[in-house]
Order: sequence, then C-alpha cells, then structure tokens
Amino acid sequence: MKVSGFDLSSPTENLIAKSLEAGRFPHAVLIEGGAPEKRAELARKIARALICESKTQAPCGVCSHCVKASHDMHPDIAFLEPKKKKSESRDKTYFVDYVREIVSGSYVLPNEAALKIYILSEADKMGPEGQNAFLKTLEEPAPHAMFILLCSTKEVFLQTVLSRVTLFNLGEDETLSHEATEEAKEAAKKVALAVYAPNEFEIVKAAGVFEKNQKLLQDTLPVLEEMFAEALRIKFGAGREGEADETASLLAEKLSRRALLGLAESAEELIKGLSRSANLNLTILRLCTSFRTAAKEQE
Ligand SMILES: [Zn+2]
Repeated sequence: MKVSGFDLSSPTENLIAKSLEAGRFPHAVLIEGGAPEKRAELARKIARALICESKTQAPCGVCSHCVKASHDMHPDIAFLEPKKKKSESRDKTYFVDYVREIVSGSYVLPNEAALKIYILSEADKMGPEGQNAFLKTLEEPAPHAMFILLCSTKEVFLQTVLSRVTLFNLGEDETLSHEATEEAKEAAKKVALAVYAPNEFEIVKAAGVFEKNQKLLQDTLPVLEEMFAEALRIKFGAGREGEADETASLLAEKLSRRALLGLAESAEELIKGLSRSANLNLTILRLCTSFRTAAKEQE
C-alpha cells in the first residue's frame, strides 16, 4: 500500500509514512515537539491513512471512510482534549475517570471501520495517576485500538508509559522560537537604552531578566550586536534610511562611533564567552560593566 499526503522531506514524516506503507504502524505512538497545529495535522494524516479501506493508496479520498475522515466526522476517529473535572475546576486535564472512560471505550468494537483511532491532544496534561490508569491499555490494547498521543515534550511521562509507546519527534516548535525572538528584541531594547542612561543601575536592572535565563541572554546578545552595528552604520551615514531600527537610531544619536564600536565588540566577546559556557552571572556582570565602559568612549 502507498500512502499520500506526507511530507517526505521531514525525516519523522518519512519514517511514519514508511511504517504505514509496511502495515506496521505501532498501536501507540507519542508525537512530541513541533507546533501544536503541526502535531494535530500529522495525527490527522496518520488517522486518515489508517482508516482508509483501500489496499493500494491511502487515503484514497473516495471510500466512505475517507470522505468522513476528511471532514473530521468519522465515528471511529476520536479527537480528544483535556477537560475540566468539575464545572468549578479551572484546569483541563486527562483526569483518572476521563482516562478510564477512554480506556473502556477503546475495547468496544469500532462502529464502521476496522480500527478505532484515539488522538489525544495535549496528552502531557495527563498526570501520573491518569498515566497509570492508561498503562495496561498501552501494554495490551484491543486489537482494533490505536492511540496517538500529542504533546510538546515527553518529559512529563512516566518511564513505564514511554517504554510502551513509539516516539516520534517533530523537532523545535518554530512558533516558540519566534516568541523567544520577540522576547529577546524587547530585552535588547531595554539594555540598549540603559547603556547611556544617567543612572548606572539602569543597566543592572535591564540585565536582571537574564538571571536564570541563559537562553534569553543567548538570544538577546546577537540582537544587541546587530543593533550596535546598525547604529554605527547610521553614524557613518550608511544606515537604511527610513526603516532603521528606532533604538539603533537613538543609539547613533546619543553615542560616539568609538562607543558604538566598543559596544558591538563587547557584545561579540560576550557571545563567544557564553558559547564557551562561561558562568551566567559573571557574563551578566561583564555585560553591565563592559557596555557602560564602552558607552562612555568619546570620539
Ligand atoms: Zn479511502
């Protein structure tokens, strides 16, 4: 059987497509990483390929299973989400009774297809108790039952659960790294403005966000370096007119060329230092002192 609709350039999707084609798709899989929509989309693709009755090409797109599945209306494909235990409860989870309900339902024969597929989004919202209630079923599922668990990271799962599922990883969540960049831009701006602030402590305050957050510092330093370089280009009259970064323009206005050059160099040094896994607190301290010193340089 051939499967279609998978992105074969992705190693994970390629692997999944191959195991579907070989008819050896595991009865329980955990898909972690990637953006939530990407995980859900992949789970749908798997479910549609599995539920199709064609022996040659799945999903065939024309059998009754395909038609229903393509509209998310197949009675044997369940899209599950965490839910509130009681009306007053705020947190949505896969609480024990909910898991038991899923588990007992999975032993009931499928309605129309040969299989019953359960897709659990945000499966990481299943606590240890829920996971334990799930364990026996993962080990000995009904012959027709398939479980696709989706989560950002497998870290919350018990080893006993992880040993009973096949893991697929979609890599970094690109939407998250985009957010990190926004956060880094914000941090860079605050640090840059504090570089020439009259009060010496402004920069210590601005750099406070990096305490216990090495990742943010790693993301922010290149933004700062580019900001200083951009300010220098503006200073030399080579800046991109009209679309120059607002903070870079301010820096160009307030600081000398030597100061901007010193700042860019300091940022580069700090990046190198961090990549040699320098002590985080020491790097933050260096940032504060070297930036303040550099900023004082006159022409
Ligand atoms: Zn079909």
